[in-house]
Amino acid sequence: MTVTDLQALAERAGRELEDAPAPEILRWAAETFGKRFCVTSSMEDAVVAHLASRALPGVDVVFLDTGYHFPETIGTRDAVAAVMDVNVITLTPRATVAEQDAAHGPRLHDRDPDLCCALRKVEPLERGLAAYDAWATGLRRDESPTRAGTPVVGWDARRGKVKVSPIARWTQEDVETYVSEHGVLTNPLLMDGYASVGCAPCTRRIASGEDARAGRWSGLAKTECGLHG
Ligand code: SF4
Repeated sequence: MTVTDLQALAERAGRELEDAPAPEILRWAAETFGKRFCVTSSMEDAVVAHLASRALPGVDVVFLDTGYHFPETIGTRDAVAAVMDVNVITLTPRATVAEQDAAHGPRLHDRDPDLCCALRKVEPLERGLAAYDAWATGLRRDESPTRAGTPVVGWDARRGKVKVSPIARWTQEDVETYVSEHGVLTNPLLMDGYASVGCAPCTRRIASGEDARAGRWSGLAKTECGLHG
């Protein structure tokens, strides 16, 4: 399929599937793209991986190991790989944390988090997604104002890929219900005051009343890592 065909497909599916339940959106992605489709997961929870594994058993689940994750996040990834019918693929940055420190100085995440995310998240994902025509995310409209317009199927113009967000219309309550009904693996930090789990140096617990992503890059203007811009 050409990039033009993929874009037209994404835009049509976005309209036609706007009101479809998440399993139907993932069935469409599995039937349309087969092995050219993957799920990305931050290992905050395995909800989208679980939904996708039902539509496409053995589906590739791509995880970005930035070198700065909490041990609980790495443990969640390992548990997902061990118990779910998915193929976990771990992507790593070109430089280790030590090599990055040598090149840019220590704690780049404090001084230039956009560069740190570009090196440790954006570049590895773009390299990893080269093997696919479509990728799924766990983005939800209710997570923050920056995500309120997330389409269930959209066009990722930067990468020339179809971007599927099957739970875009879900609420936090919908996620919790699905986790509980299906016994889906979740990151233990969600039970310890964290509402959104990213790299350890850039993630804090949230206070009551704060939105789910308030604990990411706290105190900085930055709200997204650049993967979804
Ligand atoms: Fe670096 Fe923080 Fe971005 Fe992780 S979230 S890649 S530590 S700036």
